Amino acid sequence: MSKKLNTKDWIYNPPNRAKWVETESSRIGVSPSALDKAFAEEFEKKHDLEEPFEVPDVMKVTYKYSYGGQSAFFRALRDYGKLLGATCTKCNFTYCPPRKNCSKCYGDTEWVELLGTGKIESFTTVYRGTSMLKKGQAVVCAYVKLDGTDFVTLSNVEMDDPSKAFVGMKVKAVFKDERIGRVSDFYFTAEGFAPAKP
Ligand SMILES: [Zn+2]
Repeated sequence: MSKKLNTKDWIYNPPNRAKWVETESSRIGVSPSALDKAFAEEFEKKHDLEEPFEVPDVMKVTYKYSYGGQSAFFRALRDYGKLLGATCTKCNFTYCPPRKNCSKCYGDTEWVELLGTGKIESFTTVYRGTSMLKKGQAVVCAYVKLDGTDFVTLSNVEMDDPSKAFVGMKVKAVFKDERIGRVSDFYFTAEGFAPAKP
């Protein structure tokens, strides 16, 4: 014989908001403001006992993403210190950064090795930036038309006097010693200029 649960006289006594937020925040390492919302959802309105009891928590996910059709470009860059372009098999237009299909005629492309030399097509000199920039060092950020391509590649041009950069300036790709498969694995240096001091 079962007794029916009678909650009629129960007094609703939720936790103290500030204390709950502080405790949960330090337990799972999430900002108090995010947990304040969780508190509101759980406690501002009284739930039925049978409703799912939800506990804020954090899930750390390790995963891999793929460069897909651009994989060869990044393998050549990381593992061999080479720059590849992609030439359209229909209209012969050559891209770098590469693309699997031509943006002009949708034809398939094939890989071509580039020398890494080219000319500045357009640029801007960055005097103030994020912590990624070397302290107090201006950076030339340029669109470079690499020799053998019909397109432009965006990268930094390392030069000790960034005020001397100009459109048409000859540049050459330099590959970092430690490459991780990112476009930042290389940068350009300008003909006649030393790289910026570290
Ligand atoms: Zn094409």
